[in-house]
Amino acid sequence: MKAGFYRYLRSGQTGCSSGLPRPVPYRSCEASKTYMAQIHGLAAHAAGAEVLPFKYDPGTLRAQEVEIAISHCGICHSDLHLIANDWGISQFPFIPGHEIVGKISTMGVGVKGLEVGQRVGVGWQSNSCGLCEWCSRGLENLCPTAEATCVHRHGGYANAVRVNARFVIPIPDAISSEGAAPLLCGGVTVYNPLRSHGINPSSRVGIVGIGGLGHIALQFARVFGADVTAFSTSEAKEKEARALGAHHFVNTRESKMMREVAGKFDFILTTINADQDWNAYIQALRPTGTLCFVGVPPSPVSVQAFPLVSGIRTITGSPIGSPHLMREMIDVAARHGVKAQTEAFPMAKANEAIDKLKKNKVRYRAVLAN
Ligand code: NAP
Ligand code: ZN
Repeated sequence: MKAGFYRYLRSGQTGCSSGLPRPVPYRSCEASKTYMAQIHGLAAHAAGAEVLPFKYDPGTLRAQEVEIAISHCGICHSDLHLIANDWGISQFPFIPGHEIVGKISTMGVGVKGLEVGQRVGVGWQSNSCGLCEWCSRGLENLCPTAEATCVHRHGGYANAVRVNARFVIPIPDAISSEGAAPLLCGGVTVYNPLRSHGINPSSRVGIVGIGGLGHIALQFARVFGADVTAFSTSEAKEKEARALGAHHFVNTRESKMMREVAGKFDFILTTINADQDWNAYIQALRPTGTLCFVGVPPSPVSVQAFPLVSGIRTITGSPIGSPHLMREMIDVAARHGVKAQTEAFPMAKANEAIDKLKKNKVRYRAVLAN
């Protein structure tokens, strides 16, 4: 019998209040193997469809894997892109969800440094090769064979998930589970470029789109000491954007306001998933300034080259963050009071939460709770 089986039993995970049963391990008649019960979740069965109850057999736990009994899962807009198959990579049926928090319920025999019962999180990435140049440099998020938690496998709108232990992030006591979930994808995705582009008290930073990612970006940019401007289509968000850390607010629907900020920013981080007049944002950059995409607009980005040439301005992008950076980000969030503003929904009401996010009505991250 494998050690993981005893660890699982010791964790005492047997019941659940959300309607989704927690997995209970059972032994097969084949005495040498331990099988886990099926994992229950909510899956999209076709592009754009509602998520519906679904269960799958996770098979035998691998040596380097942990299984997490999920308490919370944030709804990132990337889940909506995957459900709609906007990126052409979705395989149906699949359970979305990649901002996962819960307790370790069982561990593979090769897992070290984690404990059964420990509160942990998982973000977009759930595995990498561990061997390539990028993994060995601690940039696992750039690994060419990186695995995403809910692409071609099942994610966190469920009662449990299994991932490689290297992608499991301990959650500090200072952060609630509901508050931690949005940090695991949204948080690290905005922390990474602000950190790697050296944002500091001399920086003038613009955050475009005050949604799940953007509202956390305002807070981290403020923690880094920058002068922070929120760019938003939603006038109603101004007061909250200022409370979250913005010194200034630009209503992007008003072209006069966009003209007034020309030449003002060292770094503009765009989190929106829609096409825009990107020339207006290039014009808002100071010489040597950078426009950085973390949100993914559907069409190619078209800009005039002249302002890039004359002012050595740069356009770039940034994908999530490595496990090391996630640990750093969550520690910075805990010590500097960066908090996701969340709206909780029972797991069974995932479709309601998804609809609200589609309508840009969530303030600012929907989190599903078991
Ligand atoms: P979200 O919560 O829906 O926020 C997006 C915000 O963009 C909205 O709140 C809205 O802000 C603004 N917006 C929406 N539609 C718009 C439109 N038509 N025109 C202008 N602004 C619009 O989404 P999210 O979870 O923050 O994710 C944002 C994007 O980041 C998605 O494309 C997602 O796939 C991507 N993402 C990328 C990474 C990465 O690794 N690079 C990681 C996670 C997510 P206002 O109301 O303030 O205008
Ligand atoms: Zn995400």
